[in-house]
Formats: sequence, structure tokens, C-alpha cells
Amino acid sequence: MSSSDTTVVPAGETVGPTGRPLPAFPEPAPLAGHGPARIIAMCNQKGGVGKTTTTINLGAALAEYGRRVLLVDFDPQGALSVGLGVNPHELDRTIYNLLMERSSDVREVIRPTGVAGLDLLPANIDLSAAEVQLVGEVARETVLARVLRPVADDYDVVLIDCQPSLGLLTVNALTAAHGVVIPLECEFFALRGVALLVETIEKVQDRLNPALQIDGILATMYDSRTLHSREVVARVVEAFGDRVFHTVIARTVKFPDASVAAEPITSYAPGHPAAESYRQLARELIARGDAA
Ligand code: ADP
Ligand code: MG
Repeated sequence: MSSSDTTVVPAGETVGPTGRPLPAFPEPAPLAGHGPARIIAMCNQKGGVGKTTTTINLGAALAEYGRRVLLVDFDPQGALSVGLGVNPHELDRTIYNLLMERSSDVREVIRPTGVAGLDLLPANIDLSAAEVQLVGEVARETVLARVLRPVADDYDVVLIDCQPSLGLLTVNALTAAHGVVIPLECEFFALRGVALLVETIEKVQDRLNPALQIDGILATMYDSRTLHSREVVARVVEAFGDRVFHTVIARTVKFPDASVAAEPITSYAPGHPAAESYRQLARELIARGDAA
């Protein structure tokens, strides 16, 4: 390090892509038992920022570490379900039925995926009607929390893949959750709209779910070759400090490839750096205490 270098990094540490010293995230210890689950909502009202990709791959990485994980598709587009090989048009019952019919059993709608320890609560376009139909319900913001309660002890982590809006479905996810993860694409306008998201989170904290936390901001589609990506990450760290994950997710065509193959990247390309980045995110989440 030259004397003109202004970044102070203790000996033996490396600077990570977020410009901060990169801690080591140890291999998590195996769990003796399972549950109760920490419920995490993957949230950003902007589309195409990596919510669904992060839900699938963080979920699969946590499952690799022996965690029991439930993924909840809470977007009527059903991209999470499709990304795990489910044909949404062939589904008999989905999360929609669980929201609208008190008598339906969540365990009958949950299905296994190709990954051991990783289960899915699927959705399809039916869910788009729920937004309208729930408006007239009593306690309309707590319906998802009620649906998930019976299985909370079966899982270590529940990840809810939110739709790109701040409507009633997303408010339900925030009300059911302990934490929020906000994926942000490393693009110039990434922070535009985040203030509105944080405002929504604060309203839910005030009125419905005082324990809700922002677990972390995740920089996605990072391109280390561009100054631009590094500048965006620096701005995000300036705005959110320690809440920004040290782990960043690089932009690579392996992600769309894996979703075409309807598999998590951790099984589609297990040795690829992109798979390792989601394993690191899983370790970071556990090391932070935001998951068991
Ligand atoms: P969201 O759920 O926020 O709308 P997705 O996870 O569906 O976003 O991602 C949008 C598109 O970008 C998808 O085609 C996905 O395969 C692709 N994608 C996601 N993450 C990456 C990445 N790190 N690098 C390249 N493409 C990505
Ligand atoms: Mg999505």
C-alpha cells in the first residue's frame, strides 16, 4: 500500500466491493433442530432488480447449509414458481386459495422443489385478484401472517418474493415478516424510489409490525469493470451504511440461464462465482444473526 493511499485497511484484510474491509463469513454450524422461522420479505417496488433471483438462490444456498427453507411466491407473475420448474397454469391450489379461504390447509399447498430442504408455496395470476378482494376484509393486512403461522416452526427461514409494487400484497408481506431485504440494481437510478419503500416500511412498523427490521440492502447486477457500478455501490453505502451487505451479486448471464433451466444457480452451475456469491450472502445473513 502506498503512503498516498487514503483507505485504511488493517493488515490481513481485503477491501470488498462495497469499499469496506471484507469480513470472513464462517461456514455456519449445523442446526440441532428446526424453527421457528425467521421470515424475510424480498422487497423493492421496482421490477427487474433481482428479487426473484435472490429469493431462489439465497433460499437454495441456505438449504445447502442444512437450513429448512420455505419460499413464498407472492407475485401474481409467478416467476418464482416458474423458476423452480412449476407450471403455474397447472396449479390446482396456490397461495391465493390460502389467502381467500380460511379452511384451506397451507401444508397441502406447499410443495417440495428439486433442492433438498427447499419448499415452495406457489402462486399464479389468480393472486392478482386477491389485492382487490382483500380490500374489504377485516384485518386485511395480516392475512399472509395468518396463513404462514401454522408452518413457522417447520422452517428456519421463510423468504417472501414480493411483487414490484407497494400495494396491499406487499404490505401483507411486510406485516408477516421479521426482516426486509432490499435488492438494488447497480444502475444510476437505483436509489430512486427507495425513500418511498423505506417510508412504507416505517408505516408498517408504526401501525402493524413494530418488530420489523431492514435486514439488509443487496447490490445486484454489479459489474466490477465499470466505475459506474462502483460509484452506485459507494452511494448506497453512503446512504445505508452497515445495512448494506458486504456481499454483492455480479451481473452474469448465468442467472437468466439458470432460470431458463428452472434451477437455482447453486445446482445449475455449482462452481461458478455467482453461485458462491449467494452462498456468501447466506453465510453473511447467518453471521449477522438475521437467520439461524
Ligand atoms: P425482480 O424479481 O426484482 O423483478 P428478477 O430476479 O426476476 O428481478 O431479475 C430480472 C431479470 O434479470 C431476470 O431475467 C434475471 O434472470 C436477471 N438477473 C437477475 N439477477 C441477475 C444478475 N446478477 N446478473 C444478470 N442477470 C440477472
Ligand atoms: Mg420477481
